[in-house]
Amino acid sequence: MNIHEYQSKEMLRSYGVAVPNGKVAFTVDEAVEAAKELDSGVTVVKAQIHAGGRGKAGGVKIAKSEEEVRTYADEILGKQLVTHQTGPEGTKVKRLLIEEGCDIQKEYYIGIVLDRATSRITMMASEEGGTEIEEVAAETPEKIFKEVIDPVVGLMPYQARRLAFQINIPNEMLNKAVKFMMALYQAFVEKDCSIAEINPLVTTGDGEVLALDAKLNFDDNALFRQKDIQQLRDLDEEDPKEIEASKYDLSYIALDGNIGCMVNGAGLAMATMDIIKHYGGDPANFLDVGGGATAEKVTEAFKIILSDSNVKGILVNIFGGIMKCDVIAEGVVAATKEVGLEIPLVVRLEGTNVEQGKQILNESGLDIQASESLAEAAQKIVELVK
Ligand code: ADP
Ligand code: MG
Repeated sequence: MNIHEYQSKEMLRSYGVAVPNGKVAFTVDEAVEAAKELDSGVTVVKAQIHAGGRGKAGGVKIAKSEEEVRTYADEILGKQLVTHQTGPEGTKVKRLLIEEGCDIQKEYYIGIVLDRATSRITMMASEEGGTEIEEVAAETPEKIFKEVIDPVVGLMPYQARRLAFQINIPNEMLNKAVKFMMALYQAFVEKDCSIAEINPLVTTGDGEVLALDAKLNFDDNALFRQKDIQQLRDLDEEDPKEIEASKYDLSYIALDGNIGCMVNGAGLAMATMDIIKHYGGDPANFLDVGGGATAEKVTEAFKIILSDSNVKGILVNIFGGIMKCDVIAEGVVAATKEVGLEIPLVVRLEGTNVEQGKQILNESGLDIQASESLAEAAQKIVELVK
């Protein structure tokens, strides 16, 4: 799960991570009011969306007066902001962070991720802050320094110090940088983050080390014990189809192809997407209905797939293990009757009660193409959507 920059900063502040003063605003008047309260001379107006690259896209503006705050807030609020992370359709800005302007001396990068190769949390730092870290990694990987963290002892001060040295934090600010990293790590672990990215971390003219940007991602599997984080979820930032899917406990991810897929089990879903690609098609989604799906769940899954206007055909590929093929077939028939089906549907069923399942499909009177094998099913649907 993602949260907004202003929410990340509030959370980090409570752990002792230094961040500039700022306030969220939902309207232009609130923005001006917040600027008055901050009374910082220079104020930064920042679009709050769950995507980076706002600066380059015109979503971060430096205001030198209340009037400028009003102008920028008016310009950014309600705007469809297109950054390299939003996709071409962009994201509508509904919230602003009004923040005190900083006298930036230099911009750095600090990130924390779980490194799957070592199965350990790793802190990364670079002197090349403010730019895309992916670019730095591709062009000058030697400028990114890493510390692998032992889960038993946590981030050790010497590791933080080593990173701070490597990225050339000025001597007089080393201790502040170390304190910053230690606090950031503590927040990461206690809040079950999956990513923490501070880009840029800055040193300022008056000797501070501050997070000017903050992006936190949380592990969805840990949200049950992070109720306060759960409350920060902003549904405006999520795909409505994905929200609907999560209500029914379906794993759904929208993609940009035109073949809707309904599959059980993540492994089979991946294999199905691969084989569609192999035969020259493009999946419109990843959808795992899970092991113990009911007819109702299958119906909902079907509706979600059909609500995507890009979908030109559907492939249902289910292995009935725990889940029985007749239940799937009933769900498919119920859903097609309920929502109406005007696009081709190929179904491949295998496993428990497969004969009953096929019978239900055949007797439904609906135009459903049954397939014997995965390869055949994939070829068929790719052909049909052409
Ligand atoms: P994004 O990563 O989405 O572009 P950032 O929060 O990193 O957004 O802001 C982009 C740039 O704007 C920063 O690299 C920094 O140079 C500048 N900036 C952001 N916040 C402030 C601030 N409070 N004071 C001064 N400059 C800022
Ligand atoms: Mg940034």
